[in-house]
Amino acid sequence: MSTPILQVRDLKVEYTTSAGAAQAVAGVSFDLAPGEFLAIVGESGCGKSTMLFSIAQLLTYPAETVGGSVLFDGEDLTTLSPEDLRQRRWRDISVVMQSAMNALNPTLSIGAQLADACRAHTDWDDKKIAARSAEVLSMVSIDVTHLKSFPFQLSGGMRQRAMIAMALLLEPKLIIMDEPTSALDVVAQRSLMRQVENLRRELGFAVLFVTHDMSVVSHFSDRLAVMYAGEFVELGATREVFDRPRHPYSVGLMDAFPSIVGEARELTGIAGNPPSLIDPPAGCLFAPRCQHATDECREFRPELVTTDGHAVSCHLVNPRRRS
Ligand code: SF4
Repeated sequence: MSTPILQVRDLKVEYTTSAGAAQAVAGVSFDLAPGEFLAIVGESGCGKSTMLFSIAQLLTYPAETVGGSVLFDGEDLTTLSPEDLRQRRWRDISVVMQSAMNALNPTLSIGAQLADACRAHTDWDDKKIAARSAEVLSMVSIDVTHLKSFPFQLSGGMRQRAMIAMALLLEPKLIIMDEPTSALDVVAQRSLMRQVENLRRELGFAVLFVTHDMSVVSHFSDRLAVMYAGEFVELGATREVFDRPRHPYSVGLMDAFPSIVGEARELTGIAGNPPSLIDPPAGCLFAPRCQHATDECREFRPELVTTDGHAVSCHLVNPRRRS
């Protein structure tokens, strides 16, 4: 892998609750190469969006990053001042939220919102702002006449595309996307994903993409991380994880979503619920739901072990050495 643009090390996030601290992200580490597309999948509540917000330094109380580092271009984002972070966002790192309807200002036209973002982060004059705004809107296949449109006048797919146009304004090296397609129908989802993929190839930015729906990223991401109860349990090349999932939770996820190619098969869910994040069990966090669980699994937490570029945390895959 070329020098990573992003290096996340032992990232930990806690939520303060009346019952105690809930560890939503429990020591996640990974690298992201320039131009790479890494997708993170897992059930709702597994910590994937919280992790993205921690990386972007956008967490607010009751969530707090309590450990680890986030090196972007060699600089630790967790140690930057709010002003330095503000400068880095948009210019180096952009974030596309789950719901454009919530992220866009309903009282301002798309053009006015693009112009506001430019004025906040550049010293461009009005002519340059107008030209760049039209350019990014064209990049996401929205007619420039919609610079005058308000968010409610656009379809859901167009609003998400407008958010992506905004994210592209200052040519960032990394775009963080939090379930950007979840409010769209399947056709609009597919079209948006193709657009992101074409833009990534053309412009070379890296993508960190969170989704609960594996089918959304199956054809677009380079690598896939499977997250469970705040931990990565598997991380590898997307095709490898899809074709030969190794962690029992990944296998369960694959069996729970329909494939658009191949023979029709019965879908099965994963029985049981994720563990308490306030008082997690000592051993493997998936043990209460795993049909392969042994006493050893219930006693010892498996580590994420990488073999030939494919990482898995499971005693079944990486047997423990006994002394
Ligand atoms: Fe299942 Fe044991 Fe692997 Fe955990 S470590 S996923 S309980 S086999």
